[in-house]
Amino acid sequence: MTSTSAEFAALAPYGWDDSWSDAFAPYTADGLLPGRVVRVDRGQCDVMTAGGVVRADTAFVTPHDPMRVVCTGDWVAVEPGGSPRYVRAYLPRRTAFVRSTSSKRSDGQILAANVDHAVVAVSLAVELDLGRVERFLALAWESGAQPVVVLTKADLVPDPVTLAHLVQDVETTAPGVPVLTVSALHDEGLDVLAALVGSGTSVLLGQSGAGKSTLANALVGDDVMDVRAARDVDGKGRHTTTTRNLIALPTGGVLIDTPGLRGVGLYDAESGVGQVFAEIEELAGRCRFHDCAHESEPDCAVRFAVEDGVLPARRLDSYRKLMRENQWIVAKTDARVRAELRREWKRKGADGRAAMEAKRGRWT
Ligand code: GDP
Ligand code: ZN
Repeated sequence: MTSTSAEFAALAPYGWDDSWSDAFAPYTADGLLPGRVVRVDRGQCDVMTAGGVVRADTAFVTPHDPMRVVCTGDWVAVEPGGSPRYVRAYLPRRTAFVRSTSSKRSDGQILAANVDHAVVAVSLAVELDLGRVERFLALAWESGAQPVVVLTKADLVPDPVTLAHLVQDVETTAPGVPVLTVSALHDEGLDVLAALVGSGTSVLLGQSGAGKSTLANALVGDDVMDVRAARDVDGKGRHTTTTRNLIALPTGGVLIDTPGLRGVGLYDAESGVGQVFAEIEELAGRCRFHDCAHESEPDCAVRFAVEDGVLPARRLDSYRKLMRENQWIVAKTDARVRAELRREWKRKGADGRAAMEAKRGRWT
């Protein structure tokens, strides 16, 4: 048996779907409840279940490996009661955001799981830093989520021609990534953003001051605060709406906003970097040498492209910088953790996406 229809209806706003329900089937037999982690702290987490939010202990989900600790966005199997009640397992992740820790071991730390859209907020109030945009995009691609760039504070660029140029610059920098402009001040473009994040789970990335909180407030709206408070049924009164890091949006979709995601860096993001600079990787395939560094090697297609003005030199510099930074992080990282990471997410991510595509294909 999979989840009941009442359970399904209650959890659907949090992203529950047929394939999660299927994955959960073995736990139903054990009498466990499905739920989504809305907040984690010090060995405890808050889980949104069909009956509301419950507090649960995470001791069972291997707390000594930072990659295996449950995190906001995970779907879990939680005990129906008990004091404390325990999270017994989490379902295989479709995607995950990870950051390198500053500790000696430099293992990754999971920041958010099962994210579909990574919304990169970029302020138009300051000069565009395309290198920074690329950095956030690499992180987004690496997680398995689809990036979206949102140029915020568009009211500060009143000239439409200038605005169009800025959008174009970002679009060239971000192949395969939708670029929106919004003004929270004038309520412009927010409907487009709401539609984009209206299904699946989204996170907001971007520099401090980029307008993430403003976007989050606009997406969440005021009504939903009351709704969330009413659903808090664990009775302890401590877990108020202000501490929840995962929110069902009134216009559909789910928003994850954790403090950790705000200062996130690169972690083993080589394939993410590759996707951001897809055209460079493609050119590199035409260099004479497989391991061409595009410095002084003969028949280097990348350098030719720069010389011909096809590839901006800035972009090649940025690519090198991110690759170097990433290799440095990777070198510090335990190989076992990385191998496991790759196995678990890449495969499950691909499975998850394939399942979602199959589903979309069925229904559209
Ligand atoms: P965060 O640090 O990324 O969460 O950014 P905030 O949401 O706190 O916004 C930073 C500043 O930008 C605040 O002073 C906001 O009032 C301002 N801001 C946000 N959105 C807009 C907008 O659409 N237009 C203008 N002019 N200012 C904005
Ligand atoms: Zn080359």
